[in-house]
Amino acid sequence: MNNIRVRFAPSPTGYLHIGSARTAYFNWLFAQKQKGRFILRIEDTDISRHQEEMIDIILDSLKWLSISWDEGPDIGGDFGPYRQSERNEIYQEFAKKLLDNKKAYRCFCTPEELEQRRQDSAKRGEFFSYDRKCLKLDEDQINKKLEEKIPFSIRIVSPENKIISFTDNVYGKIEVISSTIDDFIIIRSNKLPTYNFSAAIDDYLMKITHVIRGEDHLSNTPKQLLVYEALNFMPPSFTHLPMILAKSGEKLSKRHGAISIESYRDEGFLPEAVKNYLALLGWAFDEKTTIFDEKEIIKKFTLGTINKKAAKFDYEKILHINSVYIKNHKISDLAVLIKNRFKKRISEMDVSFLKENGLKAADTENPISREAVFEDIENKMDAIIPLVNKRAKTLNDIEKMIYPFFFDIAYPDDIKNFFKNKNINAAGLIQQAESSLNEIKDNDFNRLIIERGLRNLAEKNNISFAELAEVLRLALWGRTVSLPIFETIEILGRKKSLNRLSDYEELIS
Ligand code: GLU
Repeated sequence: MNNIRVRFAPSPTGYLHIGSARTAYFNWLFAQKQKGRFILRIEDTDISRHQEEMIDIILDSLKWLSISWDEGPDIGGDFGPYRQSERNEIYQEFAKKLLDNKKAYRCFCTPEELEQRRQDSAKRGEFFSYDRKCLKLDEDQINKKLEEKIPFSIRIVSPENKIISFTDNVYGKIEVISSTIDDFIIIRSNKLPTYNFSAAIDDYLMKITHVIRGEDHLSNTPKQLLVYEALNFMPPSFTHLPMILAKSGEKLSKRHGAISIESYRDEGFLPEAVKNYLALLGWAFDEKTTIFDEKEIIKKFTLGTINKKAAKFDYEKILHINSVYIKNHKISDLAVLIKNRFKKRISEMDVSFLKENGLKAADTENPISREAVFEDIENKMDAIIPLVNKRAKTLNDIEKMIYPFFFDIAYPDDIKNFFKNKNINAAGLIQQAESSLNEIKDNDFNRLIIERGLRNLAEKNNISFAELAEVLRLALWGRTVSLPIFETIEILGRKKSLNRLSDYEELIS
């Protein structure tokens, strides 16, 4: 291990979304590639936007993605604490140092005064920056205000006409004249630090060598460099990741499918697929490959190959990538995943669940035994997965496709009346199918034997197998589309298949 240290520093103000997950992942990839350390720091000093419960949600989302950290609030480390709310003494100490060196000053202006001055500037068509009213206070005036206990914030002194320059690994050389940066607040009147102050101090104290974060922070970097300079700290190297826009070029939102990582998990995305897609947001494996193994990404990943052009988020693409990962997933592992999701869903299901999914509602005479369903799930899932893994884009798709294996179906009206005006003796065919299935010996009840019997039946009746299959599908599955019919019958088993055939026959005759 070398001394490369990166950090992901979320603020618990919302869920982990696509953009922040991409930031976490790129930091993690860089740490893996460089054999460095990945630090998780919680930036929770903005109490107006703080949501405590988000911390666990963010941590869970990272864990789900297997983006693991070497130091962090839950596991500690040599540079803790890793929650900024527990580091306030440190920030106060540095703020005091700056006050003593006259590199910062107390500002007693109230928010109302500042707002008034902001509006006045706007009326004059000017851009408001703090007018340094309080920089002009002398020692006596300051002491008097302190005695009167007038609340104050602390502002940094932004030097006159100094060029602040840094070379970003993606955006290249960036230069800003310090006079365009106002004396921004480093400690709020509630005694908590602002982001630009605490982030700079922590990055320094936590010995972060590379700051990798979203492009939205590019304009904060010069401010943080002012903090570094005022405190005589060596700054880290900076990398800003390109923005992520909607496919249309608009600002990305939920509407474009950019949901939280938690929602991706709940919708049935595989974490490997999500990460594969994240890697494509601002970085490319090569000109054309879109599906690759994480090991290969780590091998190839460098900060220098990150793109500066805004990345476009494409929900169809992440969905497609997920379908490929599902298809290539080991069947037995996929079966375990589906079994667990399914059991959880069934444990939580209520009456509307059955109805919404075209299944027969339970009644007091026929209550649903969850235990029996669980047992069925255990016994059948390995056989079911090969029927569905190439047809699904998400794990939820798979679940929806297979409900009728485990619950009785409710025949919707269009299925009940399907053969009404058709010149086909569906009831007769069903009776013959029943005998065909009944003729098979228990040990032989497999898809090949089932197929032989049913194909013969179609031939005998002078109809195409497709015509017979339609009748069977409606009877056995209650829908016009089903999974492959012979396998379906084999997995449903003789008893359930016969029950459904006779139920449907009764319905239509
Ligand atoms: N807490 C900041 C955020 O969530 C972190 C920015 C940074 O990485 O410096 O956007």
